Amino acid sequence: MDFKELHLIPPILDALATEGYTQPTPVQEAAIPIILKHKDLLGCAQTGTGKTAAFALPILQLLSEPPIDNSHKTIKTLVLTPTRELAIQIGESFAAYGKHLRLKHLVIFGGVPQGAQVRALHAGVDILVATPGRLLDLMDQKYISLKDVKIFVLDEADRMLDMGFIHDVKKTVARLPVKRQSLFFSATMPPEIQKLANTILVNPEKVEVTPVSSTADKIDQHILFVDKKDKKKLLAFILKDKSIDRALVFTRTKHGADKVVKDLYKDGVRAEAIHGNKSQNARQRALNNFKTGEIKVLVATDIAARGIDIDLLSHVINFDLPEVAETYVHRIGRTGRAGADGIAFSFCDEEEKDDLKAIEKLIGKKIPVIEGHPFPPSDSGTVRINLPKNKEVVKRPDAVSVKNPNKKKFYGNKPKPKKW
Ligand code: AMP
Repeated sequence: MDFKELHLIPPILDALATEGYTQPTPVQEAAIPIILKHKDLLGCAQTGTGKTAAFALPILQLLSEPPIDNSHKTIKTLVLTPTRELAIQIGESFAAYGKHLRLKHLVIFGGVPQGAQVRALHAGVDILVATPGRLLDLMDQKYISLKDVKIFVLDEADRMLDMGFIHDVKKTVARLPVKRQSLFFSATMPPEIQKLANTILVNPEKVEVTPVSSTADKIDQHILFVDKKDKKKLLAFILKDKSIDRALVFTRTKHGADKVVKDLYKDGVRAEAIHGNKSQNARQRALNNFKTGEIKVLVATDIAARGIDIDLLSHVINFDLPEVAETYVHRIGRTGRAGADGIAFSFCDEEEKDDLKAIEKLIGKKIPVIEGHPFPPSDSGTVRINLPKNKEVVKRPDAVSVKNPNKKKFYGNKPKPKKW
């Protein structure tokens, strides 16, 4: 199928050709006709499936249908999304796909002064892309009215819930006109999300692609067991591999992300961190440096990384395993996008073994383990002991080898059987 068969108008088809898209993705193929028929939609699709275009393309088309309003005086579409990065990316999508149309869009989010956003609102906006906090703030200040919104998109609903935005979402929905078209997207559909969807949608059509439990098969996944203290060395070791041209590294905490960046610098690997404690400008700068290839490693926390869309991301490395199994799927979904192959390495220390079990249960398969890397965990039966004069003893259950800098090796007597 090509985009023409979806009955998209020529200005949009031209923009898609410029983007180099030849065929719609499955979620686009399914969702675009539904949205063009003015129906409500419940979309179960994760990032990387092309879901942004799945709603942006038909919205641009619907807003371009007669009677066309070129005054830009009222907000006709509201897209609510959890993070600034996602908001920016959605804004970029509207700009790219709508480049031959006369619609105006604006992206608003918190953490930056509101002056420029307020001025842009005064100048007129057709499509508003917003994060919940700043939207409510500007609504309370009467800079924004939602009374003319015809199409409402709730993006990444499950993440809204994770991030504690559900109350803000409900408040926003309460201020929307009752008569509207609503599009609801979520990567997962736990009962709470289903309940929220029921309060927002009217007779929705359902579209489901790549359920979260079936991790994209094109991603090559590996586990490396390692002691917590050795993770930084293992990371530096892996990143020195020349075949890794762009890697996104996940840590559980902001502090952890900063620490990884520092340690990598010591090992001669240039990296930058993005997380909620960094200013919006610093995050954008790091992201741009990563996109342009200035730095090959970006270290991120889950919230900051949500929605990061980088073409040709070759590797995702889980420095820490996530506590929530579904987050693993979101993380590795950053690679292997839009048909590209991807590789995901996950470090697992002793304390994370239960997290690994939960992940494998969710994705329904065992993740292959890479053995024989230079930093095996101390409970693996291989213990490294550094001796004076650079001699190193490697004890195994069946032999003792002593390595010296001249790479001479000998094996000592087999030690008595021992419980390792
Ligand atoms: P999304 O799931 O919206 O985050 O999109 C994931 C990536 O796929 C983005 O880089 C899009 O630019 C890209 N993309 C979206 N639709 C298509 C398409 N039909 N063909 C090729 N790439 C696409």
